[in-house]
Amino acid sequence: MRVCGLPQAWRGHGTWRILDTDFGCGQRFVALWQQWAHDPAAPRILHVAALATRLPQLSSLHDVLRAYPALADYTDELTRQWFGWLPGFHRLSLHGGRLHLTLCIGPPQQMLRQLQFAADTVLLGMGPPAGTPPAPDALCDIWGAKGLARLCRRGTRMALTGVRPSPPMIDMLVQTGFTEPQAHTADTGADTPQGEPAWSCEFQPRWQLNRTRSAAQPAPVAAGHCVVVGAGIAGAAVAEALARRGWKVTVLDAAPAPAAGASALPVGLLLPHVSRDDSARSQLSRAGARLTWQTVKRLCSAGTDFDNCGVAELAIDRVRRLPADWPPQGRSWSDDTLPPQVAQSLADAGAPTGQALWHAQGGWIRPQSLVEALLAHTGIHWQGDSQVHHISCVDRIWHLWAADGTPLAQAPHLVLANAGDAPRLVESAAEAVPGITGLAPLTGLRGQVSWALHHPLDAAAMPRFPVNGAGSVIAHVPHPSGTAWYAGATYENANAAPEGPAPAHAHNQAQMARLLPASQASLAPGFETGSVQCWQGTRWATGDRLPLAGRLHAGDQPGLWVSTAMGSRGLTYAVLCAELIAAQLGGEPAPLPHRLARLIAASRAR
Ligand SMILES: Cc1cc2nc3c(=O)[nH]c(=O)nc-3n(C[C@H](O)[C@H](O)[C@H](O)COP(=O)(O)OP(=O)(O)OC[C@H]3O[C@@H](n4cnc5c(N)ncnc54)[C@H](O)[C@@H]3O)c2cc1C
Repeated sequence: MRVCGLPQAWRGHGTWRILDTDFGCGQRFVALWQQWAHDPAAPRILHVAALATRLPQLSSLHDVLRAYPALADYTDELTRQWFGWLPGFHRLSLHGGRLHLTLCIGPPQQMLRQLQFAADTVLLGMGPPAGTPPAPDALCDIWGAKGLARLCRRGTRMALTGVRPSPPMIDMLVQTGFTEPQAHTADTGADTPQGEPAWSCEFQPRWQLNRTRSAAQPAPVAAGHCVVVGAGIAGAAVAEALARRGWKVTVLDAAPAPAAGASALPVGLLLPHVSRDDSARSQLSRAGARLTWQTVKRLCSAGTDFDNCGVAELAIDRVRRLPADWPPQGRSWSDDTLPPQVAQSLADAGAPTGQALWHAQGGWIRPQSLVEALLAHTGIHWQGDSQVHHISCVDRIWHLWAADGTPLAQAPHLVLANAGDAPRLVESAAEAVPGITGLAPLTGLRGQVSWALHHPLDAAAMPRFPVNGAGSVIAHVPHPSGTAWYAGATYENANAAPEGPAPAHAHNQAQMARLLPASQASLAPGFETGSVQCWQGTRWATGDRLPLAGRLHAGDQPGLWVSTAMGSRGLTYAVLCAELIAAQLGGEPAPLPHRLARLIAASRAR
């Protein structure tokens, strides 16, 4: 890596962003990881976005990792995340969440177009191949060179490895703003095998970089102070994503304790969405599920706070089908063949399994435990009993006020993650700073869950994994007084007066009778004697049922960000939205291709 000035170049920076145009068998990435992990002056965050037409098998990756025993403590987390490589972007969070690897699987030029960041270093060329020959010279035409140039800032160093720059290639690089490649050998200090030269060049266009380019890629913001309003899963996830990057974060909430809104849900499902055309929603759900499981596994206790045990989805309320050309790697996410023990357990519960899916990457999570774990980061200051009434802005600093005029907090960056109240606070901010984009209106949907402690007899009649399809049933969840089951939930207009728990229990019981008839029969006495309890909360959703995440300010206006409208899938979306916001703020590669990030942009049309 000395060819491109590393490690000296990254020293003194908080974040370093590398674009690797060929992940190959992972050797280059692992070498970088080792160098970064053992450099005391290395940046806090290293981000590698790597293109690949296909990824190596886990066994070949293990061969590479074996050569780096100093990383042994961390390699388990890499191998645990090594699954489900469908085309598109996959974000892996490694080394305690400080090393981000964004794998972009697909035709290289298409993948380049979906990236939005300014690389500090570019590694161009072929890594050792991942079992099949890489796409031939996919980036060595003028469009490839332009695509690379778009992702460089002035001064980005590019190393050319495994490729000898031909005269036409040198021409294209120079035309697109790079200096003429210089050769380096081991004799001149390059870390290349003896006798094999490597080349490097720099992005130094002779012209001024235009304004449209900087509007699409605003300058990265250095870690500073940020206020987050709302301590549900959305706010806690943003706070932790920023704190991990070195930010000082103040989290305000109207309630005296975190997770007081919908995130007080006792237990919720996390599972990928499936559709015949593998819709954007399905792709977003997989990106979210991958990131949430990584976070939960890093911060929470397995078996107590979560169980990545898989989820069965039955075709009762709607039929969900896998895409016709669903490849084998997709089946490690969702499969239409049930594992034998799952099929048996569903049959014992009387479930209609005619058309069923098994989501191996599904499971249950306690949102409250996740929120507490996220807010435990030392960079986060929690401030309860702080209902934000309005917002003002003086000298580019946001000021947040209580209804009686008491100042609550101030900071140059503000993230609104206060669920259904976010549009009101955005209006207040827009009064203070004209030009701030308004937020799409949100609809409140009240939901009620029925739950009770297990009796030994009903526990035996219930599957050990969650079942979804007509509401959902989650059983065998640890509880301070034993284990509990949860069924629901209802969907009610939040503006209508609540009906009380009886109709909700009746609804949830009827749904369970369709989903797991035999299990429901064993729970019926509890409903009759009134020992079943009720939890209720409100989900906030947009018209298109996708979250609102990202920037609402333009250009050099004070930084206003939003993460809300999690709807019925906050456990899937909140961490994804948080990583997207942190990436946009810090100028890092996003966890999503640009076309998907646009679909959930907070500034999208109202
Ligand atoms: C019955 C039910 C079942 C659900 N099941 C699932 C499931 O199985 N899987 C799943 O993924 N999702 C599920 N959800 C959805 C999930 O719970 C939500 O999407 C998620 O919790 C929303 O998180 P949030 O942080 O956006 O909002 P919230 O958790 O509501 O947090 C918003 C916070 O903002 C605070 N706040 C609001 N206004 C202000 C203000 N002006 N000043 C200061 N603080 C303020 C509130 O006090 C609150 O703490 C379910 C929801 C319900 C209701």
